[in-house]
Amino acid sequence: MPLNSQENKKLTEKLTLVDSHCHLDFPDFAAELDAVVERARGVGIARLVTISTRVARHAAVLAIAERCADVYCSVGTHPHYAHEEPDVTAADLVARTRHPKVVAIGEAGLDYHYDNSPRDAQERGFRTHIAAARASGLPLVIHSREADADTARILEEEMGQGAFPAVLHCFTGGADLARRAVALGHFISFTGILTFKNSNALRAIAAALPADRILVETDAPYLAPGRFRGKRNEPAYVVETAKVLAETRGVALEEIARQTSENFFRLFGKVPRPASADEFDHPPKLDAPAA
Ligand SMILES: [Zn+2]
Ligand SMILES: [Zn+2]
Repeated sequence: MPLNSQENKKLTEKLTLVDSHCHLDFPDFAAELDAVVERARGVGIARLVTISTRVARHAAVLAIAERCADVYCSVGTHPHYAHEEPDVTAADLVARTRHPKVVAIGEAGLDYHYDNSPRDAQERGFRTHIAAARASGLPLVIHSREADADTARILEEEMGQGAFPAVLHCFTGGADLARRAVALGHFISFTGILTFKNSNALRAIAAALPADRILVETDAPYLAPGRFRGKRNEPAYVVETAKVLAETRGVALEEIARQTSENFFRLFGKVPRPASADEFDHPPKLDAPAA
């Protein structure tokens, strides 16, 4: 259990990290959800965003966010399921964001690797989610796989209709998509894929991005990083991606933790920042009078 070792505890005890994208409602976590969230806390992960993949199943995602203090959630339809939820409107999505724990729209976008959903349905869904992000002011969590040209084109067309905040999650695209997304003011988030041996091209992109646009995430239960590759991923392992991002950019892990957390709280503006570094040892009493 490397994460419980003294060495890792020492490494992470001063860090504040965020897992900006995980899927805690997946059956992989059902048997030990509280333990998974507790292990994340144990390595300094201050906030987790559990990401919706189907509006029809949003209640289960929201229930986890309601139950766990540090966990927030999004609402949306993954491109894999775009054809199953063609009638979801931007207004439907926005209505669900009235809940204080719903802090983002998505994940939505284009997946041309699997093509589980017809491409026209994916594009329609993507544009609906963009409209919801624009209307709510909440960040859009974009899933784009092997669809760089169409993703960039749609983002640029839609930004012309009015600005919206967004992050390209689990970035695996090329330098052109990264450059165009950054030009639009959007963020780029890296998973454990960044740690894989054959990810040199991705690391070159990560090295060159502006410091104020980068995020880290796990996409757990998928994509376990580094030495955990092939195992079930979990939010605590976001540290491994942060370590590689730090090495890649030639800065200290503490600096990457600070920068990516700062970026997260700027983008996910509805998520409250930890009151202080001590918050996790001494959770504030919600009913206490303000000092
Ligand atoms: Zn995704
Ligand atoms: Zn995801």
